[in-house]
Amino acid sequence: MLNIPDSKYKRIVIIGAGFAGLNLAKQLRNKPYQVVLLDRNNFHQFQPLFYQVAMAGLEPSSITFPLRKIFQSCNNVLIRVAELEGISPDTKRIQTNQGEIYYDHLVLAMGATTNFFGNENIKQHAFPLKSVSESLALRNSIFEDYEFALLEEDYQRRQGFIDIVIVGGGPTGVELAGALAEMKSHILPKDYKELDSAEVDIYLVQGADRLLKGMSNKAGDAAKKYLESMGVNLIFNTYVVDCDGTHATLKGGEKIHANKVIWAAGITCYKIPGLPEDCYERGNRIKVNAKLGIEAYPDISVLGDQAYTTEEAFPQGHPQVAQVAIQQGKYLAKQFLKPSTASFKYKDLGSMATIGRNKAVVDLPNVKFKGFFAWLLWLFVHIRSLIGRKNKLFVFINWMWNYVTYDQSLRLIIKPANRSSQSKKGTEV
Ligand SMILES: Cc1cc2nc3c(=O)[nH]c(=O)nc-3n(C[C@H](O)[C@H](O)[C@H](O)COP(=O)(O)OP(=O)(O)OC[C@H]3O[C@@H](n4cnc5c(N)ncnc54)[C@H](O)[C@@H]3O)c2cc1C
Repeated sequence: MLNIPDSKYKRIVIIGAGFAGLNLAKQLRNKPYQVVLLDRNNFHQFQPLFYQVAMAGLEPSSITFPLRKIFQSCNNVLIRVAELEGISPDTKRIQTNQGEIYYDHLVLAMGATTNFFGNENIKQHAFPLKSVSESLALRNSIFEDYEFALLEEDYQRRQGFIDIVIVGGGPTGVELAGALAEMKSHILPKDYKELDSAEVDIYLVQGADRLLKGMSNKAGDAAKKYLESMGVNLIFNTYVVDCDGTHATLKGGEKIHANKVIWAAGITCYKIPGLPEDCYERGNRIKVNAKLGIEAYPDISVLGDQAYTTEEAFPQGHPQVAQVAIQQGKYLAKQFLKPSTASFKYKDLGSMATIGRNKAVVDLPNVKFKGFFAWLLWLFVHIRSLIGRKNKLFVFINWMWNYVTYDQSLRLIIKPANRSSQSKKGTEV
């Protein structure tokens, strides 16, 4: 059982300690509520830097933070590591893999998961990037494959190990492609001298006609130029419809020979047993009103990636980005502490993506720019947004070290002894 003591205060149960849930819980520290913060992990993850863990630029511990440490100084926030399995809105109870509890108010802030568009092959063979453990799995696989490539005498089979297909030209795909291209130029020639790094092909497949669809044309065009100059093969207006561990198949039937496919092509939200079907919108986001509540269930709020609501400036719903989640978490906290009739209004602070060393694109509300100053701003914003002084310092030191030495020093294959993410013998051309 979840073993939550009775309290004289109303119980707010928050599912998910991501950007939204965590910001809400932080605002409610030492306030007259009993807050139960429930997550399947005992840590918060900073998703925008997953790709740096995958590319051996940062340690997982630099972009994660233990939840209990954040709430050490308060007694009203109870943390439980458990996974939500269902809701009974009529009796105001939730079911988890560790038992049931009652809520006075339930807040769903579970984020989203990778969307494989129902393709089981892609789900089985492609690498998603939606958790720190998936980032580590990708890091292991990349370096394991370089090792396999060294052992391989057959040219075609060797190419399969070193070529990589990235699917999705949003910020994650673009950042991954840039980081891989830098690894190809700066790391491979030093670490893997026997491999011809010129033969490493990086493909970025984008369904739309340009990169970074959520940003301005200017940003998309600049990202394209940067990646082309770094040797990334960009393929537009098509989809990867299949992959089998040795090839990625495009919509037109064309195949790219690469064992590794990285899937950054979309997200979808979780469906929760107990919530009626008509609660869901596109991408399984849950429809909420302007105060972030489910219309039929006033005691349930939804925040962040999982919530769907529109306002005049966002008729298609808010973007699924960290700032929306953070602002919604803070808004809801205010509603608990000082209820008002004010609707949630998203303040767009801008968006940015980095492509590599000195190369980034920034869209601020009034100005768009790229290059060195964009890259500096990207560094500053990401360090500032991390939780924990130690994490900020370690990330800063890591980045400065990488900048000066052109080296990322975390190229380790660490995994349980009895597991191999891929066996060399199992690969076929
Ligand atoms: C690789 C990547 C790069 C990104 N880059 C950027 C960027 O540069 N800028 C930007 O603004 N946004 C970026 N985003 C998007 C941003 O991370 C999300 O919009 C944001 O994390 C959403 O916050 P959230 O609180 O809604 O959900 P999340 O931060 O995803 O948190 C959800 C939490 O719910 C928990 N959870 C889920 N299901 C359950 C369950 N059943 N039971 C218990 N707990 C559960 C999870 O463990 C997690 O802790 C990126 C996302 C990814 C994946």
